[in-house]
Amino acid sequence: MNCNHLPVLVVGTGPVGLVAALTLLQNGISVRIIEKNLNIHIGQRASGIQPRTLELYNFLDVPEVNNLGTPFPLVRSYKRETMEPLELQRMLPFTEPTPAIPFFVPKLLGQDLHKMILRRHLEKYSCFVETGTELRSFEQSDKEVTAVLAKKQGEDEILETLTTNWMIGADGAKGVVRKHLGLTFQGETRDDFCFITGDIRLICAGLDRMFLSIGNGLGVSMTGPSHYVQLTRLAKMADSSERLPVISDMLEVTTSILNTAVTTGSIGGWNNRILFMLGIHYRFSDIVLDEFASPVEGKPIDAYRVLDETYLEAGGRAPDAPKLIHVYPGKSDVMILFTLYRSWCHTVLVFTPSPADATPILAALEWCDKSIMQSAVILPSSTPATPFASAANFVLVDQEGHAYSAYLVEASQTKVFVVWPDGVIGAIVRDAEGVRKYFSRIFREM
Ligand SMILES: Cc1cc2nc3c(=O)[nH]c(=O)nc-3n(C[C@H](O)[C@H](O)[C@H](O)COP(=O)(O)OP(=O)(O)OC[C@H]3O[C@@H](n4cnc5c(N)ncnc54)[C@H](O)[C@@H]3O)c2cc1C
Repeated sequence: MNCNHLPVLVVGTGPVGLVAALTLLQNGISVRIIEKNLNIHIGQRASGIQPRTLELYNFLDVPEVNNLGTPFPLVRSYKRETMEPLELQRMLPFTEPTPAIPFFVPKLLGQDLHKMILRRHLEKYSCFVETGTELRSFEQSDKEVTAVLAKKQGEDEILETLTTNWMIGADGAKGVVRKHLGLTFQGETRDDFCFITGDIRLICAGLDRMFLSIGNGLGVSMTGPSHYVQLTRLAKMADSSERLPVISDMLEVTTSILNTAVTTGSIGGWNNRILFMLGIHYRFSDIVLDEFASPVEGKPIDAYRVLDETYLEAGGRAPDAPKLIHVYPGKSDVMILFTLYRSWCHTVLVFTPSPADATPILAALEWCDKSIMQSAVILPSSTPATPFASAANFVLVDQEGHAYSAYLVEASQTKVFVVWPDGVIGAIVRDAEGVRKYFSRIFREM
């Protein structure tokens, strides 16, 4: 790796490129980010933002997407070739937020505003999108990537050859990176229906602007948020054996919903919590470790599923929990677990009734750089909320029992959870030995 080269070139400023760049910057890695279009694209595409994506924005410290997004309006569909209403319904199920799932309401936000919010966050790191700059071609070796960029300057075009340690091809499904690498694209192109989307001012009789109106078909791909899940997982090793089962299961589910919509004209298939993406898991990954789960031979992977809050295994989503009393360091205010999870660090949660039992577990983390690892001891509600010193970053008392309940821990048990920077549980182990075993899979040097 050449330290004089640009560390990372990000190609494309769709949601994936912007989130990848922000994640890298938050992890202290400089990026250059280019976009072939001179002007920011205005059309609407990924306007529907699912609860899991909102959680990821929480970990990236981008609250505006949830705050400015609006809940989905009702949808009125019409009988084919007529203006006769077929049905009026919610496009997605309505769910009140819970202590474990604070972002339970899917939101709508125009993609131009969504991307502007992300660009503003990049600018806080003095990172500005270079518009009118297109990746034309690239070559890669074991050490570096050499990219040829074409920059528009009025009527002219200036070519630049750039060497970088890494390049992220976030140039979309039709992009040059995928084609150049000869990568296949899961899914299919269908020409048996069409989908029209836009910011429309309705003036014709019979259509009502109080409703989102769908005519011919429904062809929304849900791949965007899944990309966010993958791209915010940079602090650990991830490979295609982890990603592909999620993507192929997702395509199967969304294709079936689409087929129902095309054949019946009904969007009822959307009324399904699976689309919230909270149940996506990586339990099958080689790097997760769960000392409490019993492996079942031949069990289907089923990576894209509805969240089951009565079952928790490493590789699944880490739940939230509010109202934890902060007893160390030196405060007595109330914390929410989700404020701990951030894109730049792993979080080790030690649930234990006895702070002494946490001591060897915390000692097993001492080798690690504190800027990429933090720890919290979580004591059951019966513990007096009196301050005391600890080797952990935080000691919290679960005064209303939300954390013990969501993480399915008995008040008398000691259980350790390692939460990845994207809020997925990497490990559930019993003790210091389990912690060492897990991290030896993640970091080459310990
Ligand atoms: C009609 C429609 C509706 C959709 N609705 C939803 C929805 O409601 N919710 C949802 O989650 N998803 C939705 N999607 C899917 C979502 O839009 C995509 O999954 C998402 O945009 C993918 O993001 P991306 O960043 O990978 O790629 P893109 O958004 O395609 O961005 C790629 C960027 O790279 C740039 N680029 C391309 N080539 C180059 C190059 N050579 N050099 C430099 N820059 C380049 C492009 O100009 C573009 O800005 C929808 C898609 C469509 C088509």
